[in-house]
Amino acid sequence: MSFLPLGLDAKILKAVQEAGYTEPTPIQSAAIPPIIGGHDVIGIAQTGTGKTAAFTLPILTKLAAQPGGPGRGTRVLVVAPTRELAVQIEENVRIYSKHLPLTVATVFGGVGEGPQIRALRGGANVVIACPGRLLDLMGRQCANFSNVKYLVLDEADRMLDMGFLPSIRRIVQQLPKQRQTLMFSATLSKEIEALTHEFQRAPKMVRMGRCSNPVETVTQLVYEVPKHLKTPLLLHLLRGPEMNMVLVFSRMKHGADRIARQLEQKGIRQATLHSNRSQNQRLRALKDFKSGAVRVLVATDIAARGIDVDGISHVVNYDFPMHAEDYIHRIGRTGRAKAIGDAISFVTPEDRGELRALERFIGRGIVRKRADDFNYSAAAPAPHPDDNKRQFTHQQSQGSPKRNAQSRRSNQPSPSHRAGSSNQERSGQQRRRR
Ligand code: AMP
Repeated sequence: MSFLPLGLDAKILKAVQEAGYTEPTPIQSAAIPPIIGGHDVIGIAQTGTGKTAAFTLPILTKLAAQPGGPGRGTRVLVVAPTRELAVQIEENVRIYSKHLPLTVATVFGGVGEGPQIRALRGGANVVIACPGRLLDLMGRQCANFSNVKYLVLDEADRMLDMGFLPSIRRIVQQLPKQRQTLMFSATLSKEIEALTHEFQRAPKMVRMGRCSNPVETVTQLVYEVPKHLKTPLLLHLLRGPEMNMVLVFSRMKHGADRIARQLEQKGIRQATLHSNRSQNQRLRALKDFKSGAVRVLVATDIAARGIDVDGISHVVNYDFPMHAEDYIHRIGRTGRAKAIGDAISFVTPEDRGELRALERFIGRGIVRKRADDFNYSAAAPAPHPDDNKRQFTHQQSQGSPKRNAQSRRSNQPSPSHRAGSSNQERSGQQRRRR
């Protein structure tokens, strides 16, 4: 099926063709007609399925249909949980609207507010925002949303998990009642259903398969490995020339930094993405990864949320994810829009219970693989003379090992850990296990 029968505006069709898309993805085929028809839509789809275009293309079509174009003033508000996602939505909107006279702005924390205030006051047609900074600027009368016709809540489940519901309520209360509201979520839960009742009118549901299904084109593999051999195994696998664009997931920020150092020591160019890095450092890391300047990007779950990078060849779960949903999101970074990718998970003896829980969640077993020519019985390296000292300092800053084990079981961060996390990362760690 081509894009033609979907009723998109000719200028948008042209941009879509220039982007190299030949046919709509299933979520696009299902969501575009009802959105053009003026319905509220709740779309249940993971990232990587083409959901951004599924809401952007029909909204742009409707804006293009207005006589005289959109004019000045904000018509579309997209609310997204993270800065990275907001930037990526913006990139998509700019690609699809390149033949339309539209102005687009992003609003999120961690960067100077001056340009954002100017863009809001200038009446940018499409505003893509994270809740915190948006609410702040709305409270200071920097935005005029009295003509907003389209509201999109993207990754609604993640916004709930991150504790953004009160902010979203306050934002939505200040929008016109007469509007079309679109909501996208990777999962459908009671909380999400409650949101549809709160914010939408008679929404049409568009659901892409079971939400626990990982993207089909991803080959999933498990490597069982003792904890002390995770880095040697990663280095061993990275010798394969097919591993040309690799996203490595670490659970913790300090773990991501450690992996990055170890790769750097072996001459492997990498970048890191986590919430302790400045916004500029994070954007730089993404840019270098996208351009191929670095082959490996080491990231934590929250920071990598919604990463939209084409051509990721491998996702490596260096640390096994704590939640099955994180696994689905992590491996959805590869195999995007029909590309083929591999998702490799390192599983230590301590992770076996979580692996079993994941296999139950996705409804199938994951293939176990052993790396060729890798010495699985290598001894743990002798402790570095400074290690005792380091461990002591580390425990002081992270809480005791016993406390950490408890907090992992109860899925609560230790108090000192809480103190060191950004809001977004912190609330992600406090997420309920579903
Ligand atoms: P998303 O799920 O919105 O994060 O999109 C995942 C990726 O698929 C993005 O890199 C898009 O550029 C790409 N994409 C979206 N729609 C299509 C399509 N119809 N054909 C090919 N690629 C697409």
